[in-house]
Amino acid sequence: MDQLRSLIRDVPDFPEPGIMFKDIAPLLGDAHALNRALDLMSDPHRDQSLSHVAGIEARGFILATPVAARIEAGFVPIRKPGKLPWKTVQTTYDLEYGTDALEAHSDAVTPGDKVLVVDDVLATGGTAAAAVELVQSLGAEVVGISVLVELAFLGGRAKIDVPVHAVIVYDG
Ligand code: AMP
Repeated sequence: MDQLRSLIRDVPDFPEPGIMFKDIAPLLGDAHALNRALDLMSDPHRDQSLSHVAGIEARGFILATPVAARIEAGFVPIRKPGKLPWKTVQTTYDLEYGTDALEAHSDAVTPGDKVLVVDDVLATGGTAAAAVELVQSLGAEVVGISVLVELAFLGGRAKIDVPVHAVIVYDG
């Protein structure tokens, strides 16, 4: 785990002043670390009979698709508004200033489906909570959220009413 942690780069003031960005590119670029991270994200969910893994644009896609393949589930993209070509459903959520929104195809999942939501980083939790709400709005069950990195000091878990699994946790 320490090896994985050592491959996450802190980038101060990106994308704006005051944000310490957790750059996972060095980890993704290391064959052994990437494989290990995907195992650690997939293994807790192998026996859950999941139908789909939903990835949140854009870095969530990088992890969600191989996790889906490992646990023999399908992949569902959750994207920013206007990017998906088919009929969509939308959920809006609050940012520090203003609101943002996520969309999924309206036929991406159906009642009876069991879905894991995947993203790279859980920060304040607003994005992940919105993704859960979106999948639930289509009638599917969300069994949990899996992230590579959790910034626990931001308290994002409190916004989420499904189990959260994080590979690497920062407490401060
Ligand atoms: P959240 O605050 O949990 O809604 O975070 C929203 C999204 O922003 C997540 O999908 C992350 O990919 C990204 N994000 C937020 N904070 C960071 C950070 N410090 N480093 C890297 N990515 C971040």
